[in-house]
Amino acid sequence: MVLQENIPLAPHTTFKIGGPTRYFVEATNVGDVQEAVTLARSRNLPLFVLGGGSNLVVSDAGWPGLVLKIAIPGIEQRSGHDENGRVVFEVGAGESWDRFVWHAVMAQCAGVECLSGIPGSVGGTPVQNVGAYGQEVAETIESVLALDLKDGQVRELCREACGFNYRSSIFNTTERERFIILRVTYALLPGGEPRIGYADLKRHFEGREAPPSLAETREAVRHIRALKGMLIVPGEPDCQSAGSFFKNPVLSEAQHEELQRRASERNLSLPSYPALEKNKKVSAAWLVERSGFTKGYGFGHVGISSKHALAIVNHGGATAAEVLALKDQIQQRVEEIWGVRLEPEPVMVGF
Ligand SMILES: Cc1cc2nc3c(=O)[nH]c(=O)nc-3n(C[C@H](O)[C@H](O)[C@H](O)COP(=O)(O)OP(=O)(O)OC[C@H]3O[C@@H](n4cnc5c(N)ncnc54)[C@H](O)[C@@H]3O)c2cc1C
Repeated sequence: MVLQENIPLAPHTTFKIGGPTRYFVEATNVGDVQEAVTLARSRNLPLFVLGGGSNLVVSDAGWPGLVLKIAIPGIEQRSGHDENGRVVFEVGAGESWDRFVWHAVMAQCAGVECLSGIPGSVGGTPVQNVGAYGQEVAETIESVLALDLKDGQVRELCREACGFNYRSSIFNTTERERFIILRVTYALLPGGEPRIGYADLKRHFEGREAPPSLAETREAVRHIRALKGMLIVPGEPDCQSAGSFFKNPVLSEAQHEELQRRASERNLSLPSYPALEKNKKVSAAWLVERSGFTKGYGFGHVGISSKHALAIVNHGGATAAEVLALKDQIQQRVEEIWGVRLEPEPVMVGF
């Protein structure tokens, strides 16, 4: 294990923003992770666990303690099938998520194809129950192997124990900062059909007679994501971001009625989708755009992507303070006009 000092964090994030960390360790195995935790404890250093850095806003001051980058590699396919006929993959938390999706698609296994092109690490996917284009990892995660910082034990958490919900799990809510994810196990359907449920995907394949393959679906998802600036393409100005900056609000029936009333006052029809327990999910992008923040809006070094109203982008040289100023402005205006408080999706580090 190599302990590095005073390492800039901006290059470790997709936003390319943030000051240095006092100490930095990259862990490629469980032993390294345990050693780094012991070191942080013995020196009383606050610990931050870093994956691919694609869902972070790091403060301009950086991190005062130890950043532990999880770089545990490996994609292993268990032999045979589970009791539901699924093929099980055990994947190191440090693997690139999109590399694993590619691997699964090449192995003709269905279940994660719509999640193609999402940046970040495998270990990051259970944290906010990554989802897109009609799929989320909660559907395929069988278990998560994690180091429990409460007692130093390595535990296998089954899917139910992870408490998955829309963009949440125990890892970013009730048990935040308790577990370091070491490996994730996914159960996928061999020879399964791709999920073509999402409107953009249906449109993409409209008029086709033969159903698309998993590989074609993966390419379609990546293509649609690129059009929205949601695929990391080196040199592309609209993808220095943390992806969607706000979660889609989940509203109670009463809140939803009030929002609908405000929309009809303005002769607008509100797009909404069913959510759990009689709740309704509404589009955060719709609210942002209808509060005056159109695509391409910006000032100084930060702005809204010209391709997606939900992505705040770093046009080059932006600071975390500038990002937060734009975030505050959007939250305030949306709340004034629509009575809904938008909740940021990225994790704030070192504020
Ligand atoms: C262009 C773009 C598009 C995106 N599109 C989507 C999308 O479609 N759907 C979606 O859900 N998300 C999307 N995201 C957000 C992001 O890619 C995902 O949330 C991703 O899973 C984050 O993983 P990461 O490894 O980068 O985590 P990081 O950003 O490094 O960390 C995020 C959080 O997870 C924790 N964490 C990371 N690894 C571990 C670990 N091994 N153990 C314990 N905790 C850990 C960190 O401490 C932090 O709290 C997008 C981001 C970008 C930049």
